[in-house]
Amino acid sequence: MTLGSLPLNSVEILDLKHERPVEIHRQTPTWCCKVEPLLVRVMDGGFVKWRCPGCGDTAQVSREQFLELDCGQRCPRCNGQMTATDLPYGNYGYHCDGCDVGVRIGDRVPSVDTF
Ligand SMILES: [Zn+2]
Ligand SMILES: [Zn+2]
Repeated sequence: MTLGSLPLNSVEILDLKHERPVEIHRQTPTWCCKVEPLLVRVMDGGFVKWRCPGCGDTAQVSREQFLELDCGQRCPRCNGQMTATDLPYGNYGYHCDGCDVGVRIGDRVPSVDTF
């Protein structure tokens, strides 16, 4: 399977909301305060944005930006390395080819409301 090439309409999404959120920063400094932005969840359902730790401003995460992040997400089923991809309903996430399960990135990062 190639990166993000398949419409994963039938994939089973595993709910990892109960796990401790991970902090994913982008190396490229923010547009405003020149610090590393943090990936946050802005709505239930997995929609994510960049948040500037300096001023709290948020910005869209492009597909390219998401795919280049090395998250190291492991599959909850088989502990194998997961692949960054698009999940159903336009959510960014990770997919395990072996188990055919997905994890939404929005379930793994802190909510914007926690700041
Ligand atoms: Zn800022
Ligand atoms: Zn797996």
